[in-house]
Amino acid sequence: MEIKNKDLIKLYNLPEKVIFCKRCTISNQRPRITFDKDGICSACNFSEFKKNKIDWKKREDELKKLLDLHRKSNGEYDVIVPCSGGKDGSYVAHQLKYEYGMNPLTVTFAPSIYTDIGKKNLENFCRIGGFDNLLKTVSGNVHRKLMRLSFLYIGDNFQPFVYGQTNFPLHAAIQNDVKLIFYGENGEVEYGGDMKNAYSPTREITDHNKHYFSGKPPEFWEEHGVKKNDLVTYMAPDIKSIKDKKLEIHFFSYYKYWDPQENFYYCVEKTGFETNDQRSEGTYSKYASLDDKTDGFHYYLSYIKFGIGRSTSDSAHEIRDGKITRDEGIALVKKFDGEFPQKYFIETLDYMDISEDEFYRVIDSWRSPHLWHKNEKNEWELKFPIWKSNIF
Ligand SMILES: [Zn+2]
Repeated sequence: MEIKNKDLIKLYNLPEKVIFCKRCTISNQRPRITFDKDGICSACNFSEFKKNKIDWKKREDELKKLLDLHRKSNGEYDVIVPCSGGKDGSYVAHQLKYEYGMNPLTVTFAPSIYTDIGKKNLENFCRIGGFDNLLKTVSGNVHRKLMRLSFLYIGDNFQPFVYGQTNFPLHAAIQNDVKLIFYGENGEVEYGGDMKNAYSPTREITDHNKHYFSGKPPEFWEEHGVKKNDLVTYMAPDIKSIKDKKLEIHFFSYYKYWDPQENFYYCVEKTGFETNDQRSEGTYSKYASLDDKTDGFHYYLSYIKFGIGRSTSDSAHEIRDGKITRDEGIALVKKFDGEFPQKYFIETLDYMDISEDEFYRVIDSWRSPHLWHKNEKNEWELKFPIWKSNIF
């Protein structure tokens, strides 16, 4: 396949001039994020709003009312919680079951290549946390093919997993006659993005394409020779059956203050959640996104495309939550953000059937000239890293 350089500015509607938020570590290169006239990003502004303007008692009353409408007393499941056994979904499921008396069916779309710790956490979640779980594992052959295509054409190996993570809960809800799906946080508002649903508890299925699929839903890959039969597992149920069922998707972060680090402490205590023995590549944390060996590629690609690596996203949220200062965040970004995903590099390449040479050509095709240049040693370098932001 011929690999052409991509026009990222056009593709993602990115501003040409890089600006960093004055309060956190995120830049205006994150797709769909907005900055106010004082240079503060939409996620920081939303975080202030969350801390100061929301009446959380009132929000919890809203939650109770909603759950009362859905709670069943005949032993059937009454809520679907997408959960990998990680800290966020586990926290939501545990709260709904033990604080609010719901009967959740937790659902998991299996990672591309499971890590030992990921498997263990899902097992702990069911065994120690006390949950029923439906694990969807798809054909490795199809998943591998889709992952390869997504890497080559849209520069994100994670896309097939995102299809499953987004659409499988919808199928599970319809099959189990459940009308309510509960996700954890609204990533668009918590991490910066489309603020459309910032003040609403629900997420609309019609936004999935834009927010999660980059405008390329599963059926897109038919153009690239993937058979429809193979894509069905990744596709959403037809919209009519979703509407007929009156299916609702809600965010727990609308109803209760969302703090990823607190979710982590909660799950260590209640669901047997365990951290990795070492930090994840590209960041300093040990407790987020642990289950898939291929996710290092996903975060690394975000670093290449937008100059925003895993450490930037993690530190930005922790600054907003008051866990670290902006200067500490900048130091962490400088130290870890562009770290190469070495640990599972060869395994992931083998899985996707991509050669090392092809990998680097694809990676370089996503380096936009407004973000990257080669330094005097002929090595790729970000033109405007945050730690130099006071001089440009
Ligand atoms: Zn910010």
